[in-house]
Amino acid sequence: MNIHEYQGKQLLRDYGVAVSKGLVAFSPEEAVAAAKELGTDVIVVKAQIHAGGRGKAGGVKIAKTLDEVREYATELIGKTLVTHQTGPEGKEIKRLLIEEGSDIKKEYYLGLVLDNSVDRVTLMGSEEGGMDIEEVAASTPEKIFKEVIDPVVGLTGFQARRMAFNMNIPAHLVNKAAKFMLGLYQVFIEKDASIVEINPLVVTGGDDVLALDAKFNFDDSALFRHKDIQELRDLDEEDAKEIEASKHGLSYISLDGNIGCMVNGAGLAMATMDTINYYGGTPANFLDVGGSATAEKVTEAFKIILSDKNVKGIFVNIFGGIMKCDVIAEGVIAATKELGLQVPLTVRLEGTNVDKGKALLKESGLNIIAADTMADGAQKIVELVG
Ligand code: ADP
Ligand code: MG
Repeated sequence: MNIHEYQGKQLLRDYGVAVSKGLVAFSPEEAVAAAKELGTDVIVVKAQIHAGGRGKAGGVKIAKTLDEVREYATELIGKTLVTHQTGPEGKEIKRLLIEEGSDIKKEYYLGLVLDNSVDRVTLMGSEEGGMDIEEVAASTPEKIFKEVIDPVVGLTGFQARRMAFNMNIPAHLVNKAAKFMLGLYQVFIEKDASIVEINPLVVTGGDDVLALDAKFNFDDSALFRHKDIQELRDLDEEDAKEIEASKHGLSYISLDGNIGCMVNGAGLAMATMDTINYYGGTPANFLDVGGSATAEKVTEAFKIILSDKNVKGIFVNIFGGIMKCDVIAEGVIAATKELGLQVPLTVRLEGTNVDKGKALLKESGLNIIAADTMADGAQKIVELVG
């Protein structure tokens, strides 16, 4: 789960990590009131969407007067911002962060991630922070330093100071920077985050070391023990189909292809997507209905696929073990009765109650293309979608 920058900054504040003063606003009036309350000469108006790259896309505005604050807030709220992270459809701005302007001397990059290659939380830092960190990572990876953190000991003071030196933080600010990193690590661990990215971390003219941006991602599997984090969820920022799927306990991820997939088991779902790709198609989603899905759950899953406008064909690939093929057939039939079936449907069933499942589909009168194997089904649906 992701949260907004202003929410991330509040979390950092709670842990004593230095961030600039700021307030959230949902309208131009609230923006002006927030700017008055902050009372600084320079006010930054920042679009709050779950995507980075806002600066380059015009989502971060520097205002010198309250009139400018009102002007920028009016311009941004309701606007669709397209950044290199939103995809071409962009994201509608509904909230703003009204923040005091910082006198930036230099911008750095700081991040904590779970590095799967070493199975450890890893601190990453660079003096090449700001808006082009992806470019730095691609062309001059040696400019990004890493500290692998032992989970028993946690981030140590000497690791944090070594990172600050590597990042070329001015010597007299190394301890401030190290304190920042230790606080950041504490939030990361206590809140079960999977990514925290501070880009940029800045050193100011007044010798402060603070976060000008904050990106958090939390481990969904641990959210149950963080009610406070759950409350920060902004459903406007999420895919409507994924929200619907999560209500029914389905593992569903929306993708940008056009072949809808209904599969049981994460491994088979991955293999199905690979096979579709192999034959030249692209999956519209990852969907694992699970091992013990009921007909209702399968119906909901199939409805989600049918309601996806990008889907030009559907491939149902089920290996019935605990899951029974007739339950899948019932779900497919129930959902198509409700929503109709306008696109080709290929079905490959194998395993428990396969004959019952096939018979149900046949009797339903639905226009189904039967497949003998996974490869056969994938090839057929790719051909039909064209
Ligand atoms: P994004 O990463 O989405 O582009 P950032 O929050 O990193 O958004 O802001 C982009 C740039 O805008 C920063 O690199 C910084 O130069 C500038 N900026 C952001 N917030 C402030 C602020 N409070 N004061 C001064 N400059 C800021
Ligand atoms: Mg940023």
